[in-house]
Amino acid sequence: MRLRPVAPVIGENLTHGIDRAAPSFLLVTLQNPLNSRDRRGPVAPGPSRSPSPGRGPGPNRGPGPASGPSRGPGQSPNQGPGRDRDRAPAQVRPVVPAPAPAPKVPVAPRELGWLPDCVYTGDKFESGLAFFVDAAGRITRFSREPADLEMAKRLPGQAALPGLVNAHSHGWHRIFRGRFDLKPQADRAALGNWRELHDQVLARLSDEDVYDAAREAFMEMLLAGITTVGECHFLHHQPDGTPLPEAGGMAHAVLRAAQDVGIRIALLNGATLRAGFGQPVGSASPRVLSASVDAFTRSTDLLFAHVEKNFPGDDVWVGVAPHSLGAVPIDALKAISAYAHAKRCRVHLQLGETAAEHAACVAEYGRSPAALLAEHGLLDKRFTAIHGAHLSDDDIRALGAARVTVCACPASELAAGEGAFPTTKFLAAGVALALGTDGQQQTNLLDDARLLEFQLRGDRKRPGAFPTDLGAAFFQAATVTGARSLGAPGGVLEVGRPADFFTVNVYDPSIVGASPEGLLGAVVFASNPRAIREVWVGARQRVSGWAHPLQSPVVGRFADLQKKLWSS
Ligand SMILES: [Zn+2]
Repeated sequence: MRLRPVAPVIGENLTHGIDRAAPSFLLVTLQNPLNSRDRRGPVAPGPSRSPSPGRGPGPNRGPGPASGPSRGPGQSPNQGPGRDRDRAPAQVRPVVPAPAPAPKVPVAPRELGWLPDCVYTGDKFESGLAFFVDAAGRITRFSREPADLEMAKRLPGQAALPGLVNAHSHGWHRIFRGRFDLKPQADRAALGNWRELHDQVLARLSDEDVYDAAREAFMEMLLAGITTVGECHFLHHQPDGTPLPEAGGMAHAVLRAAQDVGIRIALLNGATLRAGFGQPVGSASPRVLSASVDAFTRSTDLLFAHVEKNFPGDDVWVGVAPHSLGAVPIDALKAISAYAHAKRCRVHLQLGETAAEHAACVAEYGRSPAALLAEHGLLDKRFTAIHGAHLSDDDIRALGAARVTVCACPASELAAGEGAFPTTKFLAAGVALALGTDGQQQTNLLDDARLLEFQLRGDRKRPGAFPTDLGAAFFQAATVTGARSLGAPGGVLEVGRPADFFTVNVYDPSIVGASPEGLLGAVVFASNPRAIREVWVGARQRVSGWAHPLQSPVVGRFADLQKKLWSS
């Protein structure tokens, strides 16, 4: 199959918006496009193209006014109810009756569809293929019929791909970008100055600060083609541990941020019961501490209720994130996992994040981290291990044998001094790999894929059991596996799934000239972020020309926040 290059339409901006200020026309794009009056959109089939009601046969179209429905039997035109009854007919000038109001003819909903140059349908790009959605934004069909290709909105010079899924994020950590300094801590165990920075700002963050930081991070994700985020949320109380004015207020601020910029979100409610291995329950920072498993499940119940009440549909849902084996004793972890199963939600656990974890776990439980989880039956299809840079070979094999998902966050892990993700070993073990941006040191899942690929290429000891098409393998990690990890509805463009997708400009200098067979690899391993042209979430347009409609206010508020946090 071939890409079908199409000359840019005169007047269309194929060079992307340099000005980050939101063009006013974009403000309409956050509305459901099914209500849009965009004349470039799909043309309504059926009734909207049929003759107007006044021309064809219909209930208001008789042989003449005398038989119209506005007149009763035997009445002359002026003998309608209450009209000039005292006048002699001879003195009355004939009155032309007003036309009867047009009857309401049922209008079929407009069918929204797109026709890019090519669409990635799961294992290849296909050209000459349009796809359509229903009113809920879910894909109803693909078509090559000429009438359908004519009806669909043309996306010239663009290739459409399923939206990326960021399986692990802390949105508000965006405030730390560029502030890590590893040199003075070269002799320390991982994490560099991360902990000091974290504690420095944690005591001062308000709900609105978290909102501003998360909104910036989520908007940046959309600009990078990410349509779904798994947000691990650990801030539950005031800095001194007293309750927030509104229970769950910080989580609500995060959800509001996601909704305001238009990204799909799994809110993974974090559980932290102690400061680390061997520490008593209750020893963690008061801001993140859950006093008990019951306290945690009660707060999560409230979060479920909040989401059900305020976010109907599938834009928002809830999972749980027991922080780590150090922060959650194994008995508490089992109870939280049982709760998650009862709620049919996902469980995300940070595992093997530091070099010290393995030894501390063996010291407390006599088992390595993965062996401990396997022994208690906690490795299943709902479980995702986050990180994993410091797991032993045996633990990596145990995760592979259990077929669980492991979420690598290579850019974040390297930036924080946590070490390189052992891609070679995980792929050889057969784990399902997902990708996350974690601490937002950069927000580009494709860059994360590149980091892993470079490691693979540089690893001369890699065994032979590798996918030959690494572009497809890492794209699967950034879409299908990420969606499975979060229980998200997207991840692939197919009938029944939401129209979560992004497009790339196939003429962008970073990827222009790629063959149809090589386009996915070019996008994954070589594309510049500015190659991303449009982003749609559930058939609602969020990005156009690498610009988000709320870009100016979001960036402005975030700049003010950074100044406030770091200027003193
Ligand atoms: Zn994390």
